Amino acid sequence: MAEISKKLKVSEYLKGWIALRYMRYVVFVFATLFTLTIPWVTVNGSHFFLLSFVDFKLHLFFITFDMQELYLLPFLLMLLFVGVFGVTVLGGRMFCGWFCPQTIFRAAFRDLIETKIFGLRKSIKNKQKEPDYSTTINKIKRVTILVISFVLAGLAAADALWFFIPPEQFFDYAANIGDHPIFMGAWVGITVFLVYDIVFLQENFCVYVCPYSRIQSVLYDDDTIMAIYDNSRGGRIYDDEHNKLVTKQNQLAPDDLCTTCESCVTVCPTHIDIRKGLQLECINCLECVDACTKVMAKFNEPSLVNWSSVREVEKKEGKTRFFRPKIIGYGVVLTAILAILLVMGAEKELMLININKQPRLYNIENAQGKPLVENAYTILIQNTQNEDHQFYIEILNNDKVTVAQPSHPFTVKPGEKIKKTLILSTTEVLADDERKDTILELKARAFAVDAKETISVERDIRFTYPRADILRKKMERN
Ligand code: SF4
Ligand code: SF4
Repeated sequence: MAEISKKLKVSEYLKGWIALRYMRYVVFVFATLFTLTIPWVTVNGSHFFLLSFVDFKLHLFFITFDMQELYLLPFLLMLLFVGVFGVTVLGGRMFCGWFCPQTIFRAAFRDLIETKIFGLRKSIKNKQKEPDYSTTINKIKRVTILVISFVLAGLAAADALWFFIPPEQFFDYAANIGDHPIFMGAWVGITVFLVYDIVFLQENFCVYVCPYSRIQSVLYDDDTIMAIYDNSRGGRIYDDEHNKLVTKQNQLAPDDLCTTCESCVTVCPTHIDIRKGLQLECINCLECVDACTKVMAKFNEPSLVNWSSVREVEKKEGKTRFFRPKIIGYGVVLTAILAILLVMGAEKELMLININKQPRLYNIENAQGKPLVENAYTILIQNTQNEDHQFYIEILNNDKVTVAQPSHPFTVKPGEKIKKTLILSTTEVLADDERKDTILELKARAFAVDAKETISVERDIRFTYPRADILRKKMERN
């Protein structure tokens, strides 16, 4: 029996330490590596996400969109907001505890640098006790940590800017910093803010500044999973008005399991007592779950603080319902927005062109006895690709109308927008109407000569063919 009990204890330890705390650390490492490396990854010159302030382009999922195509941004914002709301309904402030840069920075600063590396704090289990800075050695450590914080914050600020200034240009700017005062100001400003936030403001940011905590409570329902204390097993520590009823274990009923050790309280980075119930300050980091799991393992009991739902722990109404109508609704909306984004991305034209007819209806010339009719257009063409291309135009649905000007393909540099005159002409008789000009609907295709199948767009344009009597008179005069 003692052996079984020992095994159970070990499993409880493992459950608490590997399943949550270390899982969180693994997520932190992956999130950090992903954020640091993804700005450097490009496919055909396009980034995963970049809202470039340099050439005013949006790169999304390795596709580059021009400013004229920024109608995608509202869909991205919808994706972000609906996603955050859906995740909150499902897992409370899960984003805060597991993915938020603020939490990752604080864990790295407090638990890794201050505690593990410099030993300024005795243990990561007590986050309430501030380090003692009265000794000289601790003062030196504090200054050293501050210097390290500035270096790391500078890197984090640079990483944040890489989503708005591509890394390759970032280093050009950094090498000529005097020529780019706004860039310099942004980099220094973000760095200083990060140091202030992580070193001095700390979790007060999560509690008092971050707007997310304000919206979360209205999104919660009985199935939202969060850190939750089990009153029925541990005993009631607070009344409904959050007044503390119990400070010592002997004030609890004999069956109540809470040892009043306060391990779940001292470990909490936002300085709250989870035994009071749901609080806005809780970032769902689950440190308290780990702490209580370790305490309760000594009594061969499961944790009194669980990552669970009100339905399961407080109301005892059975298992948490993950697939409930609300969650399915969020899933459907998110899928629809994502599908719209993907369809728009797939239909994206790889060049931009406007073709506008010039005011003069047509020009008539005598071409060796044949009437030559010309229509002129102004074209505005933009190369949205990352390399030079030669462009040309052809008419798809009428082989009697040809492109007279431009006479050769013309080069457009990456991002460049150029204006040209397009002249379409014909020497064929396309209509024979004595009463009015004839409008012909043409389909024009503009394309990159070296990538005709991929970089090409089609536009409908109108060609005006003159009245037969006008044509006759003009030919007689010439
Ligand atoms: S109560 Fe504190 S320790 Fe527990 S999950 Fe919330 S923030 Fe983390
Ligand atoms: S860690 Fe567990 S046993 Fe200790 S005070 Fe918190 S709930 Fe009670």
